[in-house]
Amino acid sequence: MRALRFHGKGDLRIEDVPEPEVAPGLVKIKVEWCGICGTDLHEYQGGPILIPPPGAPHPLTGETLPVVMGHEFTGRVEEIGEGVTGLRVGDPVIVEPNIRDNTCHQCRHGSYNLCPSGGFYGLSGWGGGLAEYAVIDARNLYVLPPSVPTDVGVLIDPLVVAWQAMIDSGYRPGQSALIAGAGPIGLALLLTLKASGARWVGISEIADARKRQALAFGADAVLDPTVDDVTAEVRAATGGLGAHVSFDASGLPATISTCISAVRPKGTAFNVAIWEEPVELDINTLVTGGKRLAATLGFANVHPSVIAALDDGRIKPADMITARTSLDEVVDHGFDELLRNKDQHIKIIVQP
Ligand SMILES: [Zn+2]
Repeated sequence: MRALRFHGKGDLRIEDVPEPEVAPGLVKIKVEWCGICGTDLHEYQGGPILIPPPGAPHPLTGETLPVVMGHEFTGRVEEIGEGVTGLRVGDPVIVEPNIRDNTCHQCRHGSYNLCPSGGFYGLSGWGGGLAEYAVIDARNLYVLPPSVPTDVGVLIDPLVVAWQAMIDSGYRPGQSALIAGAGPIGLALLLTLKASGARWVGISEIADARKRQALAFGADAVLDPTVDDVTAEVRAATGGLGAHVSFDASGLPATISTCISAVRPKGTAFNVAIWEEPVELDINTLVTGGKRLAATLGFANVHPSVIAALDDGRIKPADMITARTSLDEVVDHGFDELLRNKDQHIKIIVQP
């Protein structure tokens, strides 16, 4: 079958690879759509980062590069392994891409996103979504309802990241929030918070195309940190107090500082970004307001909540898809297009 494999920094190749075979507990799916994620771009530009390099195989998959890429994908059940129940051939499914050992303390207590041996389909080995077929652990598959087509289903991936961050931040319905950055995760947070009863959500962003998208997705205020005093604007919109919670979806020294200053006393600044560099931070900005700084990685057990919100129309994410391409053209029309015109795109999806 055809697949996109990562061979090293800047080296993505469309290749013929053996078709994966189903085994007990596993399900073979025919991939319908796969999204390209910021993580994939980081690997392409500066990897291997999460992808296991030669000599250091992933502890669960035992694989090193080259690996098949793509971890945001949907498909149809093609073949079902022995012992799997609850799925039928032809079912449309979304893949939850976490690979985990299912035995450690975190896995046994519902936080398998923090499994020390964890990894991802499409990065750590065991195949991925930028291929015609993938074989996936049945525990990582969720059936999509008829209201969620498999192209829109790809958007569940940024939405589960946002949903997990919302839960872990301590946000409660009726509260106010600031989001720093209107990229895919920032916009997914906006949709998630508005669908969960947020009273006011402001978003800070400098790129015009992303500002327009944030307004279209229902932001109560779109602030430009090169022009606006973001903290002052947030306080003005929240009775002078500041937001209950803020989310840093950019990962820059300026954005994390604003996320701390823009929340009210006892508020929470929550990081959802992956940082490229360590940052210097004045901890007294937390101390003097009794504020919390917290973070999380990935998602665990939130797919059913997000799928339900798509099914009943609380979240309508289809406009996050800004372009579609094929597997054969994925490097030029997918990866390179995102690097060339990052601000023009939210999500490019690929049909193998
Ligand atoms: Zn584990």
